[in-house]
Amino acid sequence: MHTLSLRELADGLAKARFSSEELTRHFLARIAAHNPALNAYITVLEEQALAGARAADKQRSSGDVHPLTGVPFAHKDIFCTEGVRTSCGSKMLDNFIAPYNATVVEKMAAAGMINLGKTNMDEFAMGSSNETSFYGPVRNPWDTNCVPGGSSGGSAAAVAAGLAPAATGTDTGGSIRQPSALCNLTGLKPTYGRVSRYGMIAFASSLDQAGPMARTAEDAALMLQVMAGFDEKDSTSIDCTVPDYSASLNNSVKGKVIGVPREFFAEGLSDAVASRTRAALSEYEKMGAVLKDISLPHSHLSIPCYYVIAPAEASTNLSRYDGVRYGHRCDNPLDLADLYTRTREEGFGDEVKRRILVGTYALSAGFYDAYYRKAQRIRRLIKNDFTEAFKSVDIIAGPTSPSPAFALGEKVDDPLTMYLEDMYTIAVNLAGVPALSIPAGMVDNKPIGLQLIGRDFAEADILNAAHQFQLQTDWHKQFAPAFA
Ligand code: GLN
Repeated sequence: MHTLSLRELADGLAKARFSSEELTRHFLARIAAHNPALNAYITVLEEQALAGARAADKQRSSGDVHPLTGVPFAHKDIFCTEGVRTSCGSKMLDNFIAPYNATVVEKMAAAGMINLGKTNMDEFAMGSSNETSFYGPVRNPWDTNCVPGGSSGGSAAAVAAGLAPAATGTDTGGSIRQPSALCNLTGLKPTYGRVSRYGMIAFASSLDQAGPMARTAEDAALMLQVMAGFDEKDSTSIDCTVPDYSASLNNSVKGKVIGVPREFFAEGLSDAVASRTRAALSEYEKMGAVLKDISLPHSHLSIPCYYVIAPAEASTNLSRYDGVRYGHRCDNPLDLADLYTRTREEGFGDEVKRRILVGTYALSAGFYDAYYRKAQRIRRLIKNDFTEAFKSVDIIAGPTSPSPAFALGEKVDDPLTMYLEDMYTIAVNLAGVPALSIPAGMVDNKPIGLQLIGRDFAEADILNAAHQFQLQTDWHKQFAPAFA
């Protein structure tokens, strides 16, 4: 059952081929057997999931239900979940039991979906390898000596190893798409404002978006359908209608113009990934789409721009962890200053501290104009690049990540190299547009992703293009052999 897609599982439940309780027990047994090797889950909600599954079975037998009622999945441990530890991968929140549900958590529950547990992640979603988690690194099911990507690495590993059929993730600079690429999944970062951020622990508020991680575009469409929508509790949520994402999956891509930014095939991309990505792109030509050489001239500025804006926002967002209101508190503080400093010294890991230092510096009176204001101007130029490109193309496509999964420990001591992991994903967050990653083949026996970027609120278009690709290729059907 763990190799079936969400759509197939929903179908099986509808036809009573198995019950939600059987399904949930199956995934819980898989978690018990394989999580020790992967460390994909921080918290497993065994009793709660089984109770939910029994309730879902009852509901199903007594009438009309949401198609995903009784289907299990997992939540990244960044979403506040009432009565459940919500750690955000940090010692700071190791003892934090959320008093309320994030809107995304509410929506999945309202659809009757079964939350198997909370997945591991980089601390406060800062990272590209899942090595900054307080709960230890996650391993990639395709090669357990390698990282799964990050920061949603626990969600990616869980789905890739069949410890959940799908999961939620969040993406501030690539954290849904890059781990999806490294673990052979379909992962979508929606348009900024499409999915509510209420109850999602903040990293960089103008960039953070939640989205689905699944094996197929069909499944990502089903998940997004549940997650998306206006929420008055999130002041940046956008009130525009949510289309039926599954309805347009079968549209033809014939005649569609796909822009291929030359900057995405320049220095930094491994040759093998470049040629595999080009081969994947040629599938679209076979389907009648037109590939067009384009330029996103400010691409090279996206990483420096992000690494001013994201830490600046993080440094203010993380000021709330002061040992007073919730979370970790140091023992026997001498005075208030000691309480603040020792709590934060003990509660935060190195990468989080690095970001707070960089962010505070960039926002300080003497450097605000030179760094923060300059970065905001560059952000506008990056957005303009996309607006300009979308005047003549329907979709923009290229690699998701410059290389396949790398070894645990390989980049962890070299933050600048680690930051380059997101060289093709970060501009998308700065511009706010939607993008997804789909399985696009193997390099050194490890999966790589193809990234498809859409216009604002055109999630349906990129899901459609992704599904059409998956009708022509089998990459997304490949399952990590050691966990099949
Ligand atoms: N890897 C990037 C960072 O460390 C992006 C993380 C994310 O998208 N949450 O900030």
